[in-house]
Amino acid sequence: MTFKESQISRLRELILKSESIVLIPHKNSDGDAIGSILGWWNLFKQKGIEATVVVPDAVPDNLQWMNGAKDIVVHESNPEKSKEALNRADLLFLMDFNDLKRCGDLADIVGSLKASRVMIDHHPDPSSDTAGLMFSETGVSSTCELSYHIIKNLDWQDDVNEGSAESFYSGIITDTGSLSYNSSHPRTYLVIADLVGKGIDKDKIHKELFQSNSENRMRLLGHVLCNRLELLETLEAAYIALSKEDLEEHDYKPGDTEGFVNYPLGIKGIEISAMFTEKEKDKFVKVSLRSRNDMPVNLYSEKYFSGGGHINAAGGEWNGTLNGAIDHFKKTLPDFINQIRKS
Ligand code: 5GP
Ligand code: MN
Repeated sequence: MTFKESQISRLRELILKSESIVLIPHKNSDGDAIGSILGWWNLFKQKGIEATVVVPDAVPDNLQWMNGAKDIVVHESNPEKSKEALNRADLLFLMDFNDLKRCGDLADIVGSLKASRVMIDHHPDPSSDTAGLMFSETGVSSTCELSYHIIKNLDWQDDVNEGSAESFYSGIITDTGSLSYNSSHPRTYLVIADLVGKGIDKDKIHKELFQSNSENRMRLLGHVLCNRLELLETLEAAYIALSKEDLEEHDYKPGDTEGFVNYPLGIKGIEISAMFTEKEKDKFVKVSLRSRNDMPVNLYSEKYFSGGGHINAAGGEWNGTLNGAIDHFKKTLPDFINQIRKS
């Protein structure tokens, strides 16, 4: 994958002249967000470039093993330290999101800083004011894959050390459901070949990512599949509704429900899956959506749940009760499906 030479030289210039870079992912960060941030952070370290990672909220437990994760500044729990790093920064790297709103409580601070901004992302419809220099490619599997293509264009691939390669590899794997979707282009596998060639321990990474669950998370999954999964067969849809009490009873930690929304798609005939998670009692519900084929859940989410994302994986928000979110879903989904099937 190649980029405009002017973009690559501008990026090189911005990085090399900066004295303090801050890397920022979206809120509720996932493997691709943290992987891309730490992939670049390890590369910068290798090159002797000063950089700090600031994240809006807690990093999921299954990503804490990555090299550099222990040095991450979490804005939610340490706002003073995060503001101090941000005020010192002369360059901000925004990764895996394309609208400042997606970095939660950091959005206003980031928007008010004088520092230059670079965005690297693979979601559709970037907001043009996100950054002065934007790398936006929707055809790649992940921000991690895109990052590696950019690094090759910079001719810095020799500085991708093991820590960097492990992080980028993790993001590609998590954002493609272990290479089961968004991963049909051969160039994804060429990047993986390069990363594995850096000497990473692929088996260890898979164990850390997918086989380090807490007992609570596994029991919560059991509860979800037995008691909280509803099918809407005529719509070929299914949904999961998790109340705040469900989460508390299972001692919920960030990341514990990651991937649950994919399970309903494992049922024959189900094409759309939604998960509603009550984050604040009767006030705020996080929405996750998945689909198969050409059912654009990002458009649905944009229209009905103030969200967005990719065609087959999107998310949104509902300010209200859990039942309110479900009623709204049941009311709006049939028309949306009809419109898409007609077009
Ligand atoms: P997840 O369901 O895993 O939280 O998110 C799936 C996809 O939707 C991700 O690509 C994520 O960036 C996007 N997404 C999740 N929540 C939101 C949201 O509230 N707004 C927007 N615009 N995108 C979201
Ligand atoms: Mn991503």
